[in-house]
Amino acid sequence: MINYSPHFTPKDTGWIEVITGCMFSGKTEELIRRLRRAQIAKQNVIIFKPAIDKRYSSTSIVSHSELSLPSVMIEKPEEIIHLSEDAYVIGIDEAQFFDNTLIDVVEELANSGKRVVIAGLDQDYRGIPFEPIPQLLARAEFITKTLAICVACGNPADKTQRKTATQERVLVGASDSYEARCRKCHYIP
Ligand code: ZN
Repeated sequence: MINYSPHFTPKDTGWIEVITGCMFSGKTEELIRRLRRAQIAKQNVIIFKPAIDKRYSSTSIVSHSELSLPSVMIEKPEEIIHLSEDAYVIGIDEAQFFDNTLIDVVEELANSGKRVVIAGLDQDYRGIPFEPIPQLLARAEFITKTLAICVACGNPADKTQRKTATQERVLVGASDSYEARCRKCHYIP
C-alpha cells in the first residue's frame, strides 16, 4: 500500500481522509489501524457504518480478517452530525452504501475542526465509480488507495469481481460471491 495516513498532522483544523479500493484490499483494516492509534492517543473517536451492512456484527466494524472496533449503525448520514458532537475523530466504514448526502455531512464535520476518516469501495462490480466515494476523494486532503492481489494472476488488483450473474449493484455481506481481480482478469458477469 502506498500513502499511509498523514505524514504530518494539521493543526487547528479538521480534514478528510479517504481509504478506498476493491474488496479484500484491507480498507477496513487500515481504517481500524488509524482509529486505534487515535484512541491510544486518548482522542475521542466514534465510528459509523450503514445499517445496510449487518454482516458479522451489528455493533462493530469488522474487517475480513476479523479485526473489530465498536461502531454505531445509522440509516442516514445526517445522523452523524449530532451523534459525533463530542468526538474529535470520526470513522465511517462502507461509505459507498450511503447516499450523496454524506458529502455535505463530511464537509461540515471537517469544517468544524474534526478529523474524518472514511473507508469505502471506489468501484462497483462492473468497475463503475461508486458514489459518493468519487466526490469524497475530490474533497479529501489525504487519499489512500488500497490494492488487493488478483486471485487469477497475482497482479495488483483494484477491481471487485462478482462471481454470480445478478444485476443488483449491492449484494451485502456476500463476500463468497466476490474476489479481487486486476484490470486484465476482471470481467462483468
Ligand atoms: Zn489478474
